[in-house]
Formats: sequence, structure tokens, C-alpha cells
Amino acid sequence: MKMSGKFIGAHVSASGGVENAPLNAAKIGANAFALFTKNQRQWIAKPLEPNSVESFKNNCKIVGISPNYILPHDSYLINLGHHDEYALSKSRNAFLDEMQRCEQLGLKLLNFHPGSHLKVIDEDKCLEIIAESINWALSKTIGVTAVIENTAGQGSNVGYKFEHLKQIIDQINDKSRIGVCIDTCHSYTAGYDLATKDGYEKVWNEFGDIVGFDYLKGIHLNDSKKELGSKVDRHDSLGMGAMGVEFFKWIMKDNRFNNIPIILETPDEDLWESEIKMLREFELG
Ligand SMILES: [Zn+2]
Ligand SMILES: [Zn+2]
Repeated sequence: MKMSGKFIGAHVSASGGVENAPLNAAKIGANAFALFTKNQRQWIAKPLEPNSVESFKNNCKIVGISPNYILPHDSYLINLGHHDEYALSKSRNAFLDEMQRCEQLGLKLLNFHPGSHLKVIDEDKCLEIIAESINWALSKTIGVTAVIENTAGQGSNVGYKFEHLKQIIDQINDKSRIGVCIDTCHSYTAGYDLATKDGYEKVWNEFGDIVGFDYLKGIHLNDSKKELGSKVDRHDSLGMGAMGVEFFKWIMKDNRFNNIPIILETPDEDLWESEIKMLREFELG
């Protein structure tokens, strides 16, 4: 049997407690997963219970998934690039809380959307505020890497170009604790044509040149309901959207995506198990 170099999972439910997430991952045959460590639609969360933290760590061991392949996602409410001082500090405190929850759980990565300028400030200023926010949170925590996700460029979100990611990284003091996660649906609708063979080569070369694969800490593997360059963020199940199935074969055969969490955020969770199985066949076939 060929050895697998890919760590594949989905953004699984943590309902009933974070300790359920690794069990939910194991049920679908995953060796990686993503989770929310608190309710993603609320600002305030109860601190994690010590026994919940303990069982989380235990369950990860039982199912054999290392923190290297766990990619928690922060709350959707947080905007680290907010122009308003009060709103910004609310976001920063919530982000710090997310980082600290990761620390408690023994996790090494925290994935987040960079932020939005809300049409009040320009993109450069927004990216600068985001970098300051990250520097501030990193200075108050240890061991957790901040992982910026690229966006589709919907509304006033920044982060839809590799140059934006690079611009943030350039302003981070501790480069050992900053990374990026590339969402394939977001890339596609932001205008990066990953779904043709030529486009695939070109886009990843561009990523390598501008950001660099050393900073790649995770992949969100999604098909897209919307067409190339539409700037609309609507994930689809693998092979069922505008990107088509070939793209997912290329990814699974590409060694640049070994040893990082590859996470499905596809809409039909009943398909996750078979999507993972299909990806394994692409990888090892
Ligand atoms: Zn994503
Ligand atoms: Zn998305």
C-alpha cells in the first residue's frame, strides 16, 4: 500500500462540546479537521471547561489526529481591519480570546478571514490595521500561528489577492507565527483560474512567487457554485460546481499540499465521507 501524504478532513461540528469534534472527524474517515472553539455567531463565549479541554486532547489522541492537522476557524463577527476604534478593540479582544482557546486546547493554528474596509478606508490602510491586530494578539500568546484565509473579495473584504496576504505578512514582527490558508472556492471566484491545467500551474506559481509555499499552513478544499471571477462566496460539493472534478485530482497528486490540513467546507455534510474517499482514490490511484 502506498503511504498517504495528505491530511484530509472537514469542518466538523463541535456541538455539545469541543471534545466531540475529533470523534466527528473520525466518523467520516478524516485524518485532519477544522472546528469552531466557540459559537461563531456570538461575541461572548463561556470559557472552556477544564474537563472539556482534557477530553478534547484525549479524543484527538484516541483518533490519532495531531494538532498539526487541526485548523480551528474564528468567529465570523471579527473584523481585524475595522476603522473604528471601539469596534476594532471589540474584534481584537474576541480574536485574542480565540487564540487563547487554541492555546488551552494545545492547538497550533488559528484560521481567520483578514477583515473588511467597509468602504470607509482604503485597502492598504485596512491591511495595515489587520497586521497591527495580528502583531498585538501574537505578542499576548505563545505557540499559536495566525493563519490568514484568502477571500472571494465579496463586499468590502480584503484578502482576495495574493498580494494582500503578502502585504500583511510583510508587516508581521514574528514571521514564524504567521501563515496562510488558501480556500479554493474563494480563489476561483476571486478570479484565479485553478480549474484549467494551464491556469492551475500559473496560479500556484504566482502563489509561490508572491507569498511562498513555506507560509501555506492549510487548504480549504471547496468547489464553487459561482463562476470564475464572480467575487461571490458560495461553496459547492466537490465536482458538482463550476470548478469540476479534474482540479481535485491535480491537487491530490501535488506534493506541495502534503503535510498540511486539507479541509472540506462543502455544503452537504452527508457527502463528506464519500468526498474524502474520492480524494484518497485520486491521491493513491
Ligand atoms: Zn474557507
Ligand atoms: Zn467561503
